[in-house]
Amino acid sequence: MGNYVIGIDLGGTNLKAGLVDRDGKIHQRLSIKTENNADPQTISNQIFYLIDEIINVGAGLKPAPTSIIGVGLGSPGLVDKKGETILFSPNLPLWRNIPIKRMVSERFSIPCVLENDANAAAWGEKWVGAGKEADSLVMLTLGTGIGGGIVINKKLWRGVNNVAAEIGHMVIQMDGPKCSCGNYGCIEAYASATAMVRRFKELLKSGAPSSLKDAGDVTAKMINDAAFQGDRASLDIIKETGHYLGVALVNIMHVLNPEVIVLTGGMIGSGDLLMDPIKQVIKEKAFEASAKETKIVFSQLGNDAGIIGAAGCLLNELEISV
Ligand SMILES: [Zn+2]
Repeated sequence: MGNYVIGIDLGGTNLKAGLVDRDGKIHQRLSIKTENNADPQTISNQIFYLIDEIINVGAGLKPAPTSIIGVGLGSPGLVDKKGETILFSPNLPLWRNIPIKRMVSERFSIPCVLENDANAAAWGEKWVGAGKEADSLVMLTLGTGIGGGIVINKKLWRGVNNVAAEIGHMVIQMDGPKCSCGNYGCIEAYASATAMVRRFKELLKSGAPSSLKDAGDVTAKMINDAAFQGDRASLDIIKETGHYLGVALVNIMHVLNPEVIVLTGGMIGSGDLLMDPIKQVIKEKAFEASAKETKIVFSQLGNDAGIIGAAGCLLNELEISV
């Protein structure tokens, strides 16, 4: 039995791989750029390339191929019920109906597990991150969109059709703004980075003064930086984002009563500016019994959660105790 798993995190802009040990520690990492309109052949060749680099070529540790237990692959999009094929991926539109699990395991003659990327990241936080001691955990990834992962009784909850944890598409206002999914008023349409920028622009249009008034193409990061400089409009919009997220978290608590809710993604750079209003809404709106023992925390693994979690999913699948 080997000692390392290759964890892979496929994203719309980067493909990252890491050599992960049985304690969830990354010993070696590689990353290459991906194009979101890349064809499946290119993407799978990039995946093969990184695995090959780590097994046969990579600098640093250079473990012999025999010490690799297998490959855990986190991919955006919908994974089929058997966990073998990527059916559809909104961020990589051509990456569909790809039996990538079989392709990897046949090519390298090692086990491979395929998991949705948000699920993999949630598992990483459960395994060795912010939810390490918890039996139940919900994770929200706050970025361009809002993704989610749910762990119940120390297992990922995938749902009957492998599509659970679409937390970003929880409707918090039926006649709210249109969401990327086609519905209206999803939490993603209020509190993703994209939505926060949209609300910020609306606020400036209404005449609110801001240091970013003439900044051109404003990003969530710019709003965050301006808020730390004391910009009123930026502070207000982050606080409002926290309010919306608080409403979503109250709903999650009332349904699942989890031990830990982990927030991750670029937007957690706002720190307490985002966390304080979230906790305020929970204090005001959540049933005390649902909320009193639920910890709301920021991710501990950050961008590594996907790699580590994908590796952990492989160990789980093989029932290797960790
Ligand atoms: Zn939606």
